[in-house]
Amino acid sequence: MLLVETFPVGPLQCNCTVLGDPVSGDAIVVDPGDDVSKVLAMLEKHGLRCRVILNTHTHIDHVGANDELKASTGARLMLHEADLPLYDNLRVQSEWLGGVMPPPVRASVDDHVHQGDRISAGAVAGEVLHTPGHTPGSLCFHIDGTEPLLLSGDTLFAGSVGRTDLWGGDYDQEIESIRKRLLTLDDATQVIPGHGPVTSIGRERQKNPFLA
Ligand SMILES: [Zn+2]
Ligand SMILES: [Zn+2]
Repeated sequence: MLLVETFPVGPLQCNCTVLGDPVSGDAIVVDPGDDVSKVLAMLEKHGLRCRVILNTHTHIDHVGANDELKASTGARLMLHEADLPLYDNLRVQSEWLGGVMPPPVRASVDDHVHQGDRISAGAVAGEVLHTPGHTPGSLCFHIDGTEPLLLSGDTLFAGSVGRTDLWGGDYDQEIESIRKRLLTLDDATQVIPGHGPVTSIGRERQKNPFLA
């Protein structure tokens, strides 16, 4: 049985998701945003140890707590290397937002992940789907289990797709990524986006105006 907890963090309300194995106590935290106390409280509530921090991409609202969470837990930080130019410029990203979020400390990256890579912690396991477009290194995390689940980052939202007007964004590439890597998944796949409500692949296939 996989434990899944999603909660918004930080001023831009990025969805952080904790994926836990209640038997071994191992967990993967996807996009800790910038509220480490909220993340640590959720881990403690379920008696989990964070083994892996995975960033769906390196926009400042998704990576803010990387350093504090890594320091508190000793977890390995994983992301796609095509997003390193963004990750190396957190101060510039902070300026884009007019200082709503001060630039966080840049935690060192332990593993660069790629299309098709498997990531696991205890019984929590899944596959990396590289879906460039919102950013060059945007990825989705397709989690194993009897109930199919996808963490879609800022690539696919309920009724929308990620903005592509920031550095490295490419709308045509984003739509191609969604068609090639996400719409090929089962309709029943639950989708937890990087912001906003949960949806499913079937629902987006039918109703998302950007995918018509
Ligand atoms: Zn983003
Ligand atoms: Zn975001």
